[in-house]
Amino acid sequence: MITRKQAIELFESPDLAGIGMEADAVRRRLHPEGVVSYIIDRNVNYTNFCTEYCSFCAFYRPMGHKEGYILPFETIYDKIQETVDLGGTGILMQGGLHPDLKIEWYEDLLQGIKKRFDIWCHCFSAPEIVNIAEVSRLPLRETIARLRDAGLDSIPGGGAEILDDSVRHRISRLKCTVQDWIDVHRTAHSLGMRTTATMMFGTGETIEHRMNHFEIVRQIQEDTGGFTAFIPWFFQREYTSLGRFVKEEATAVEYLKMLALSRVYLDNILNVQASWVTPGLKVCQLGLRFGGNDVGSIMIEENVVSAAGTHHKATEEQLRRLIRDAGFVPKQRDTLYRTYFLN
Ligand code: SF4
Repeated sequence: MITRKQAIELFESPDLAGIGMEADAVRRRLHPEGVVSYIIDRNVNYTNFCTEYCSFCAFYRPMGHKEGYILPFETIYDKIQETVDLGGTGILMQGGLHPDLKIEWYEDLLQGIKKRFDIWCHCFSAPEIVNIAEVSRLPLRETIARLRDAGLDSIPGGGAEILDDSVRHRISRLKCTVQDWIDVHRTAHSLGMRTTATMMFGTGETIEHRMNHFEIVRQIQEDTGGFTAFIPWFFQREYTSLGRFVKEEATAVEYLKMLALSRVYLDNILNVQASWVTPGLKVCQLGLRFGGNDVGSIMIEENVVSAAGTHHKATEEQLRRLIRDAGFVPKQRDTLYRTYFLN
């Protein structure tokens, strides 16, 4: 386990290959079998109405906007049917923070899905759950327990951005606080649910801010062991209001360094995901030698980062090829990163 000071030195080192080797050593210790996993699932964005106005977000529409929508349940079921038909094992369902949808709406949806499909529901990031609790006037624990009882299987780590309130105040002033994000994940873990942790960097924050984020995630994992994976990605600026101030996106080198740092610093989390959606397939492939042991999802549908100008696409065969070519064995996994019962 490295210290905060060592982590910053590693990030600031110009020795890119050396950083990669350190991360690869941790990856090999945790995954000696040489498998790199991926999942077939679908993002379902049930609404784009949102009241939070995050400056990095090109996905949301304010209430009353003519491009705003709430998907009818039947449309969501159709999307899930397509996912199942394509061999998908899960859905990642997230949406904007709607001020009128109470918990009963979410319970009906989850129950409707579970009645029709045998599919894993990885849904509702921490800000959404905090919003559901507020709109429904319920305590957080009861909110999560009711959603779980209705069919929620696990919770995605979205909405973390950078877990530092000074950064959040600048980029997502209305969205949940660091403590809210922590409370959702700790509460879910205490209820026996697994969650993921994410980081969106490159919004003008410092390495110290990023380290604050890493420390929070590492401490939660130390206490609960509830995170299945850590997934870092970088801010996409196109069509966002923050893009007027943050003129340049992270480079491939910065992404690879952050991926490697995630692997080395968070060695108490089993899986680190090398993403292709924002950096592209070729950088993702390199990421497998910078600590990544998973390439995420085939992603039958994605609306959030594509709203900010990213349009990378991947088929299952493309992902398997890039994994094989990097020297690993590709395996399909489920949402809990289990590969043993799939191919
Ligand atoms: S990031 Fe989420 S909470 Fe923020 S504006 Fe977009 S949809 Fe709303």
